Amino acid sequence: MDMPPPLAAVRQAIISCEACPRLRTYCERIGREKRAAYRDETYWAKPVAGFGDPEARVVLVGLAQAAHGANRTGRNFTGDGAGGSGDFLMAALHANGFANQPTSRSIDDGLQLHGAWIMAAVRCAPPDNKPTPAEIARCHPHLRDELAALPNVRVIVALGRIAFDAVFRLLAERGVKPRRRPQFEHNGIYRLPGAPIVIASYHPSRQNTNTGRLTPAMLKQVFKDVRRLGAGAGSNTGQTPRGPRGV
Ligand code: SF4
Repeated sequence: MDMPPPLAAVRQAIISCEACPRLRTYCERIGREKRAAYRDETYWAKPVAGFGDPEARVVLVGLAQAAHGANRTGRNFTGDGAGGSGDFLMAALHANGFANQPTSRSIDDGLQLHGAWIMAAVRCAPPDNKPTPAEIARCHPHLRDELAALPNVRVIVALGRIAFDAVFRLLAERGVKPRRRPQFEHNGIYRLPGAPIVIASYHPSRQNTNTGRLTPAMLKQVFKDVRRLGAGAGSNTGQTPRGPRGV
């Protein structure tokens, strides 16, 4: 699917960003050194822009790129291996009609998202999957600009606490402020006047999925709720969503 000009401009700004020397150095080094299993591949090794359906009604916000996943393939939640977070997430999206297949293995695997867009709070891979607060803050404008270029968003799914905090920071910048500080809770649904509904989910990292903290059924339920809230692929009901609580 071709990107409209605003999204194309956002993408260009992201992939050419050099604002975090520590992360850029790390991503490029990983891209040179490579993991043995991928030694014949050319790593992307640049910041990663979001992808999906420009008409998306639901946006997923993850944490950051995986060193040998998105930093290798150039696509969010892609290429971190069988049973990795990409497959785990895509199975839940596919089960609810947001993806045409249940796996996410490579940039040319034929994956298409329907009514959904995937982005991350931090567009470069951080060492130990831990961006610093300064790096999260530096990458925030990319999150803001990419979300602003998606005109139909009704629901934001925040995958993990860092994404959750970034989403509420972004809403605060838009003048949307909760009465009290929202508490992260898996499958918590947060509704504020004049803003997309936010749903929190544990991040589908192996640390969470291997320990059973996040099960396939739990993540599928999140996207079932997204559909219930009127943001399903192809839905345009205009109906008032039921169920979410105010914060
Ligand atoms: S993490 Fe974000 S702000 Fe930092 S270099 Fe990467 S794209 Fe730029």
